[in-house]
Amino acid sequence: MNTDLLVIGGGIAGITAAVEAAETGREVVLVEKQHQLGGRVLQMHKYFPKLCPPVCGLEINFRRIRQNPKIKVLTGAKPTSIEGVPGDLTAIIHVEPSYVKADFTSGKGVENDCPVEIADRFNFGMNRTKAFRLPHELAYPYRYVIDEESAHDPAMKQFIESSGIEGVDLDMQPEDVEVKAKAVIWATGWEPYDANKLDHLAYGRLPNVVTNMEMERIAAVNGPTKGKILRPSDQQPITRAAFVQCAGSRDENHLPYCSAVCCMASLKQSRYIREQYPDAEIHIFFIDARTPGRWEDFYQEVQDDEKTVIHRGKVARIEEAGNGMVTLTAENTLTGKLEQVSVDMAILATGMVPTVAVDAPPIKINVDEFGFIQNNGTSVVVGAGVATGPKDVASTNEEATGAVVRALQMMTGK
Ligand code: SF4
Repeated sequence: MNTDLLVIGGGIAGITAAVEAAETGREVVLVEKQHQLGGRVLQMHKYFPKLCPPVCGLEINFRRIRQNPKIKVLTGAKPTSIEGVPGDLTAIIHVEPSYVKADFTSGKGVENDCPVEIADRFNFGMNRTKAFRLPHELAYPYRYVIDEESAHDPAMKQFIESSGIEGVDLDMQPEDVEVKAKAVIWATGWEPYDANKLDHLAYGRLPNVVTNMEMERIAAVNGPTKGKILRPSDQQPITRAAFVQCAGSRDENHLPYCSAVCCMASLKQSRYIREQYPDAEIHIFFIDARTPGRWEDFYQEVQDDEKTVIHRGKVARIEEAGNGMVTLTAENTLTGKLEQVSVDMAILATGMVPTVAVDAPPIKINVDEFGFIQNNGTSVVVGAGVATGPKDVASTNEEATGAVVRALQMMTGK
């Protein structure tokens, strides 16, 4: 493939960069490791700034991609090498098989009888899903997939043969695609910080301690509980919930930096709970709330809610309280007193880790001490989105557009 711009990462930053570049007349190849575009935004129940579901912005962008022949999309794909200099770069993109041909259509829906089930990674393993499935009802490309490990399961083979489904090839092989490009934008986004490392917060030991990203899936209508927010241990309704801010963030032992969005995310999620349970009590444990600019109003609104209690202190520990409840203990930094609250569910506001730090690119990229890309002209690629630092969706879109300008300058040498 020959192209002007190669974009690595098909989340909101990569999608924005791809459509902005293509709409200036440039050829773009957009590469995404999952079998669908959308990244983290697709996992949100609602996202800022309008608190709308992902269908709002993503569907518009998918239409822009669909209607623009200058954009080629490779999903299930990752670069394994990138060589050269701006203006003359060669990348090898490894494309994993989806085992389902592009022209497969659901037909009579017999794929729903697939006997092989796997943990649903999209929902952080909180439920199981068919191994033969459409990854998401919004999926772009709108293509069914079979997971790698399940494609070689004898039960899958038997099912495909006996059901008479056409358009599946369990012998499909991966392929390497050579892409020649003039510039590369790196927009691989972020991973949630691993809450298992926060031993004092009991994540993984107590089922009613969940992360903020899990909370997004729990609240989503296409999530593990179809949008009903329930106590994970026994599916009981929520009478009291607590948010633990800076769970692992601003902490020298974990992430020393502020992830910028998790204060807003918790305020947003407190609304999810109150919408379903108007009488539920919400407790939010802050060191301090970071709600820049116009989000201060949103914070004020939550503070004014008489059923929401703001605690000034970092949670020191979470313990089992019996009957499915968990108890949070924190020292109030204003009064110096220990505070304890027992709730049905504790939500950990875990931070963002740049994907570059956990999945090293096949080319040297200048990063800071935490793994965020430095756009200082010393790398062959241009970073965009959370790959360059924690930020919300609106800022990501702005930066991705700026990255296109930078990439155009690099490819033309002007
Ligand atoms: Fe802590 Fe809020 Fe910063 Fe997240 S955004 S790290 S919760 S201060």
